[in-house]
Amino acid sequence: MKRVAIIRCEKNMDRCPLTNCFKCLTEKKEAFAIYEDCVPAGVFTCRCPGDNVVGLSKILRAKGAEAIHFCTCMFAEKTEKGWVLGSGGFCENIDEIIDKVNNETRLPCVKGTAHLPEGYSIKFWD
Ligand code: SF4
Ligand code: SF4
Repeated sequence: MKRVAIIRCEKNMDRCPLTNCFKCLTEKKEAFAIYEDCVPAGVFTCRCPGDNVVGLSKILRAKGAEAIHFCTCMFAEKTEKGWVLGSGGFCENIDEIIDKVNNETRLPCVKGTAHLPEGYSIKFWD
């Protein structure tokens, strides 16, 4: 059973309580479909410009997280046609931030959680 943590963006923290992220995690759907079984290991919030994320990820690791997912709204946007990659989500630097987390913690990282945009292939950092 994989213990999976989620990091969300502060720009969405007062608008979305991770409803679909948790739904997908508990149902092993969308980006969590990669696991045979998984349970939530915790949630933290990235704050601009993202300097807090490595520290938060180390705490998640110390508390037993075995992988970290970064919310889909960080890199995709909601439109009338559903979630699309389009001009991107809340964060221009999400790949660099995930790189840093993966390098400093050696935890597997996954870019995406719920409602993956059409045509998006899940990006992993092993
Ligand atoms: S990915 Fe979707 S469900 Fe998760 S925090 Fe962003 S908007 Fe909410
Ligand atoms: S650095 Fe990116 S993910 Fe982090 S709070 Fe800012 S916009 Fe959101």
